[in-house]
Amino acid sequence: MTAQLQDEDEATPLQRRLARMIRAQGPISVADYMSDALGHPQEGYYMARDPIGAEGDFTTAPEISQMFGELIGAFLVQSWIDMGEPSLFNLIELGPGRGVLMADILRTAQQLRPEFIAAVRVYLIEYSGRMRHEQRTRLKDAKPDIIWATKLAEAPPGPTLIVANEFFDCLPIRQFLKGEDGEWRERLVTTADDGSDALDFTLSEAPVPAHRLFPAHIVEAPEGSVFETCAPAADVIDEICARLAPYKGRALIIDYGHARSGLGDSLQAVRGHHYWPPLKAPGHADITAHVDFEALVRAAMTSGALVYGPTSQGDLLERLGLNARAEALLR
Ligand code: SAH
Repeated sequence: MTAQLQDEDEATPLQRRLARMIRAQGPISVADYMSDALGHPQEGYYMARDPIGAEGDFTTAPEISQMFGELIGAFLVQSWIDMGEPSLFNLIELGPGRGVLMADILRTAQQLRPEFIAAVRVYLIEYSGRMRHEQRTRLKDAKPDIIWATKLAEAPPGPTLIVANEFFDCLPIRQFLKGEDGEWRERLVTTADDGSDALDFTLSEAPVPAHRLFPAHIVEAPEGSVFETCAPAADVIDEICARLAPYKGRALIIDYGHARSGLGDSLQAVRGHHYWPPLKAPGHADITAHVDFEALVRAAMTSGALVYGPTSQGDLLERLGLNARAEALLR
């Protein structure tokens, strides 16, 4: 960690705002904390800065290699062909970051099948004005029309392909902890005892009805176990499935996470490419949680979708032709 980052112990404006609110109204859930830390309209992490890349706090697969977007572009062209090559369709990206993935996808599609580009309407679902500006700059020469929206619901119905890289790990999670008395309580965020604006974890006074909320094997977990839920992720999956169902559309979801619902505290923050305490300097550090792919699969199957995976990113890219593409680029 650099000296500059360590020195910054002063409370951020968002931290002061949260501390005031907690003192007035009581502790808040981890989900409410995460939601404000990332998405508060003025002070949220994604609103005020450009966090991605070497200069920022973290980097992502499309930023590392153009092959990532090219292979996904090829997958999307094939998916469009499998849909019967509709002459008008939506390509929706959730959380497009700096627009690198979409730029690579569109360039590849143009090379593989110009008809794809003639038929596509691109929707970028992005809630940060700052990130939209980055996307607009990067995609200014893109051929198809690009339309920005803050919510998936704003894109019109119709044949649709959806892609999301490192979007679901930003969605707010709730955390629950099993205590020594065998009861589960929700982990909450409160102000520290010293009267400062420092934030700290605490637990809900009342236990939660775990047997009604969690799978049986989770309820029986040992003392000290942490369980995480992410209702917004299931909601997005429901929306995606409802949208895809009438048209045999496809969604490709790529993220950090686990294939089976399990136990463990996965809330993490990064700043300047280093881990960072999640409750420190909210608004100035990225906060994510691992995606529970089993929960996503369950939500998708409940909606009647066909689910492939989850599989590892390496496996997916290899099957899409990573090695052949790497050799071609080397030549
Ligand atoms: N997909 C990109 C960026 C990942 S960072 C990449 O791979 O490089 C997450 C992105 O999702 C950012 O652009 C952030 O502003 C956006 N985002 C996060 N939560 C969001 C939400 N609830 N609604 C809309 N956009 C969101």
